[in-house]
Amino acid sequence: MINVTKTFLPPQAEYQAILKKAWDTGWMTNRGILVKELETKITAYLDTPHIIAMTNGTLPLQIAIKALKLHGEIITTPFSYVATTSSIVWEGCTPVFVDIAPDYLTIDETKIEAAITPNTTAILATHVFGNPCNVAAIADIAKQHNLKVIYDAAHCFGVTYKGQSIFNYGDVSTCSFHATKLFHTGEGGAVFCKQDYYNAIFSHHNFGHDGPEAFQSLGTNAKMSEPQAAMGLAVLPYMDEIIDRRLKIVNAYNQLFEEVSAIKKLVIRSETQWNYCYYPIIFETEIQLLKVIEVLNNKAIFPRRYFYPSLETLPYVEAVNLPHSASISKRVLCLPLFHDLDIDSIQYIVKSIKENI
Ligand SMILES: *Cc1c(COP(=O)(O)O)cnc(C)c1O
Repeated sequence: MINVTKTFLPPQAEYQAILKKAWDTGWMTNRGILVKELETKITAYLDTPHIIAMTNGTLPLQIAIKALKLHGEIITTPFSYVATTSSIVWEGCTPVFVDIAPDYLTIDETKIEAAITPNTTAILATHVFGNPCNVAAIADIAKQHNLKVIYDAAHCFGVTYKGQSIFNYGDVSTCSFHATKLFHTGEGGAVFCKQDYYNAIFSHHNFGHDGPEAFQSLGTNAKMSEPQAAMGLAVLPYMDEIIDRRLKIVNAYNQLFEEVSAIKKLVIRSETQWNYCYYPIIFETEIQLLKVIEVLNNKAIFPRRYFYPSLETLPYVEAVNLPHSASISKRVLCLPLFHDLDIDSIQYIVKSIKENI
């Protein structure tokens, strides 16, 4: 069986050796030595200033919205994982969807200004499949209209844009360290933010504490635990190797699909050092996609419709007409991509697709 992804597991002995440090301290959570070590090592690896490790990649979105004191309308993308939209609604704000650019699959920055109203307080956009949004244009719009910018950078571990970590753009970026993501801690995630927001975000993620006996704000519990951090510390040394291996797999797919005009590939924005986190292909029709899924499933190969459905169809938002997202979400399929996927399987997958479109 071949799934769309497979979690990278470091040698178990290495995980256990790190975990032993937690045993030695008898300290399992509340920012023990492993969480602090992981934060230090991630900021060094990515060259990014401020991080707060958290328990997953969804609470960082909610906490970012809270910390930036957002209310009213938040402009966002319909082509993302449900957490991007649900966090906005969960925080009592209204998502206002702007369609995507059909080549990059990120929010179409040229359509943002038309969606701004006196109630707009922020833009929350996703760097889809690790592909950066047009961060310069979005920063200009935000400045002109006095809006905050949050990036859902769940897919972006290791991505650089114009020579620096993609996490450094916007007011706040969030990342997921879920087991299906490139870098993982089982469940986990983080906020990357400017110094200005660090204290507020830190407090919100820790019940609003201001010292052990005082509270400064409304908080929740989004603390990463020591066993999660241990997994991260065991995976982190392999990140260069993981990204390098995925580059080879993506190149193999690209080569095999080279002359297949019925399949469109993701266009990565220039000046991006990508992390090869997903291999999405876009069919001409949903019928082709459904046929290919059926054929592959019969061969015990399980690609994933990601992102599907387009988020303006969620039952708790207002339906709007977004032609690109509505159409592409029905035609996009992420093919298997993981560390030990072998070349024979890649050839077999591509051959099966070519024979059925
Ligand atoms: C995975 C993902 C999330 C949620 O992260 P979790 O760690 O699963 O909570 C949010 N946004 C996007 C775009 C994702 O892919």
